[in-house]
Amino acid sequence: MFANRTGIRETNERTVLSVILNEGPLSRAQLSEKIGLNKASVSAIVKTLIDQQLIKEVGIGESTIQGGRKPIMLELNKAAGFAISVDIGHDYIDTMVHYLDGSTLKRKLLPFRVVEKATITADLVTILQEITAQLPESPFGIVGMTIAIHGIIHNNAIDFTPVYDFSDFPLAEELEKHLDYPIFLENEANLLALSEHAKNSAFSNLVCISIHAGVGAGIIMNDQLYTGENGLSGEIGHMIVQVNGNPCTCGGNGCLQTYSSEKVLLDTYRELSGNKEAIIPDVYRAYAKNDALAMKLINNMIDYLTIAVHNIITLYNPRVIAIHSEISRLLPEFPEKIKHKLPHLTSANIQMKHASLGEEAILFGAAVVTIANFLEVPRFELKK
Ligand SMILES: [Zn+2]
Repeated sequence: MFANRTGIRETNERTVLSVILNEGPLSRAQLSEKIGLNKASVSAIVKTLIDQQLIKEVGIGESTIQGGRKPIMLELNKAAGFAISVDIGHDYIDTMVHYLDGSTLKRKLLPFRVVEKATITADLVTILQEITAQLPESPFGIVGMTIAIHGIIHNNAIDFTPVYDFSDFPLAEELEKHLDYPIFLENEANLLALSEHAKNSAFSNLVCISIHAGVGAGIIMNDQLYTGENGLSGEIGHMIVQVNGNPCTCGGNGCLQTYSSEKVLLDTYRELSGNKEAIIPDVYRAYAKNDALAMKLINNMIDYLTIAVHNIITLYNPRVIAIHSEISRLLPEFPEKIKHKLPHLTSANIQMKHASLGEEAILFGAAVVTIANFLEVPRFELKK
């Protein structure tokens, strides 16, 4: 296992770094005022962080109303190292290299991949060598990698994945044989929620719903990711929405993901339309032309999602529920359609919206995990 860095940095150092990361550029005087530390202490910490090349002096700020010397401003040295994010879907591998402020250096999406445990380690090592070749010189190099898994993760291990055969496969340990940086595994919907929270830190209680081959939710309660006792929390794809309903991979019947996943939408559309090659944008285009089949299938998907959203609100009472899926990105009114179907009790105070960071949201959530671990900051706001 990797060494957990937590605790290496002193509390005040973490606070200074966090404020510069989230609110910079700032002068030493502004830092002193925001943190409530005297200027000598702030200057000493700033010197340490500059010596470590984690922050840098950038230009001159405005002088105060009282006049005087214009202050030197400080900001994160975002190119001091790089974070890698990987999203392993049922048939794709999506990757991104980030600067230390979470912004994108490069992204590579590899669609239509065979994803299985027999080949995934070698596949990933090859892909990572390609995307990290010719990174700019930096003091810290690659500071870590977070991998989004479509399944249940507990203690950085894969407990259960219905969409590929990784259940109990020690992916992080296998990769650590080839890579010399920390590797974190996390559920993809949890990463989605972390990205939404990092983008909108005013939302202390939020739920993100990710719809792909399955359906999952990431839950932020009181500004913390909630994963439950064994990482099962948020597995809403297995919330039962129909008595004696469709059989599910979990062994149950009537689970949400057998009605509202994109895979079910696409499989049903392909079968009933006769267009075996159809992709999600084809279903959207048919819907936009008022095609009866596409309208029926999408409305059915929304009906079952509405049951799930209602249940989520009764359990967690979030301020916001954000939806993340290809079909919802094509249909701007998708979240509002769910809201309109909710009964008064649960529709009254909920904001239904799209996930803020679009198609790349899960990758940005992965960056939050890697970078917050490396910098040991208590708070991380994504500025993208
Ligand atoms: Zn199920």
